[in-house]
Amino acid sequence: DALNQSLSELNGIDVSFEFFPPKTEKMETMLWKSIDRLAPLKPAYMSVTYGANSGERDRTHDIVKQIQSQAGIPAVPHLTCIDASKEELRTIAQDYWDNGIRRIVALRGDLPPGGGKPEMYASDLVTLLKDVADFDISVAAYPEKHPEAPNDQFDLLNLKRKNEAGASEAITQFFFDTSVFLRFRDRAAAAGIDLDIVPGILPVTNYQTLLRFAQMTNVHVPAWLHKHFDGLDEGDQTTRNLLGANIAMDMVKVLAKEGVKHFHFYTLNRSELSYAICHMLGLRQQ
Ligand code: FAD
Repeated sequence: DALNQSLSELNGIDVSFEFFPPKTEKMETMLWKSIDRLAPLKPAYMSVTYGANSGERDRTHDIVKQIQSQAGIPAVPHLTCIDASKEELRTIAQDYWDNGIRRIVALRGDLPPGGGKPEMYASDLVTLLKDVADFDISVAAYPEKHPEAPNDQFDLLNLKRKNEAGASEAITQFFFDTSVFLRFRDRAAAAGIDLDIVPGILPVTNYQTLLRFAQMTNVHVPAWLHKHFDGLDEGDQTTRNLLGANIAMDMVKVLAKEGVKHFHFYTLNRSELSYAICHMLGLRQQ
């Protein structure tokens, strides 16, 4: 049957999960519950964001160390260069390496309000990290173009520079139109970019929050998505979860058919949807 067939096509899928440092005790509890729930699926790694200019890098570092030592999953810190000197970045990178961290998500970070031309871009950070140690490096990619880039080609050449500086993987900004991702992957290949391009999947549970994110990041929200969530009661969490899981599942199936083997989930520190999607993909506790 159709589901069986699609599951057999989905063999050999790898996943990774992204979390952010929690701000309250309640959120902290939720984070560790989610990590415990998702760890037995043996993801390729779990990554932890670091909000540029937040001054909370230590919190990212602590969570990363704990994931690696307690959950036994390779843990990957996000590191931004917009808010640190080269000397600081070298020290942080060496410390990560000494703590057994082997992959870093290397980012520039958003410009602070009124900030002028940055001293470093993500490609410069990749060069710096590779100079410190032989990290595996993931970078950000934007199927719908980074908001600051003047055009698609300019942004693609930036991705190529990050690749040439030593990145091996690019995680994309979230998106909903799978053809946008597939076209982007084709354009990257045509530009000679040799990166594993991993789709960033955002399982949507809160439509209003999504609209805010999408506006900040220039991500197109298709009319069909709006129709799905339109008229739903804010309080009806079950229906919203079912819809969100279903939408993400459809996307993942289309992408897997197109040969995508690794999916990165923006969990927003929740496990339910990501777990359900992974289970349907055939991933089991190990
Ligand atoms: P870059 O690759 O440096 O690109 C930034 C912009 O500058 C692009 O428009 C690019 O085209 C342009 N550009 C590059 N080089 C030049 C040049 N020489 N001259 C002129 N323009 C140039 N933010 C956080 O604060 N913390 C996180 O943990 C975090 N995690 C993320 C994870 C993923 C998967 C993604 C997709 C984004 C994440 N972000 C995070 C957001 C990211 O920091 C912002 O999107 C930021 O504005 C750009 O970062 P970048 O690494 O893509 O920058």
